[in-house]
Amino acid sequence: MNQVIVLEVTFAFNNVVNTIYPVILKDQQELILIDCGYPHFLPLIKGAAEAKGIDLGKVTKIVITHHDFDHMGALAEWKSAYPHLEIVSSESEEKYISGKEKSLRLQQAEALYDLLPESEKAAAENFHELLRSITPVAVDLRVKDHELLPWCGGTEIIATPGHMPGHISLYVKASKTLLAGDALVIENDQLGLANPQYTLDLAEAKNSIRKLLTYEIEKIICYHGGIFTGNCQASLQKIAYD
Ligand SMILES: [Zn+2]
Repeated sequence: MNQVIVLEVTFAFNNVVNTIYPVILKDQQELILIDCGYPHFLPLIKGAAEAKGIDLGKVTKIVITHHDFDHMGALAEWKSAYPHLEIVSSESEEKYISGKEKSLRLQQAEALYDLLPESEKAAAENFHELLRSITPVAVDLRVKDHELLPWCGGTEIIATPGHMPGHISLYVKASKTLLAGDALVIENDQLGLANPQYTLDLAEAKNSIRKLLTYEIEKIICYHGGIFTGNCQASLQKIAYD
């Protein structure tokens, strides 16, 4: 049976309680995890899946929507625990996930460093170190915009650049569900764009939302915020044209 399962992974980071929502696509052939958490998150995510009756020891693929450390930080752990699993990303994210090029987030942080007040430099250096500590992993399958995969009876890749240039979302056709990654977030029950500070190209991020308006979307799942319960079309319209 085809299933889209939303995990709820709650943790404390710098003493602040936070939740991320990785998604599992389950069908007869595949058990696919969409984004895999911060460094050291493998046990937490496995536990969250087990709580829903899913054994992620049977994972077949991990899709990385983009190479931010909260989405791919644990990727090397997954690959070493389950060497058979295939890593999937867009073509333009592949070079950062596999370490051929320096992380765009690290480039951004380094470029801003000199502009920071002295009091913020130590924290910035810690952030740089964290990003440098992420272990790269080779990508096995590169997917393109509008590519249709058999997952869950038909899942379309939608290129949604903005937050990062190679960011992808996934559209599960049967249930009209959008897995938005960080193309969208939910804050105070409102759908919105990810924090502009971390969105590398805001104009492009809005263009991506305009593109999403061409899909019939009844359910949106955000990595930060979980399942959106409001009116999808109206909310997307507002973000795209406000
Ligand atoms: Zn991100």
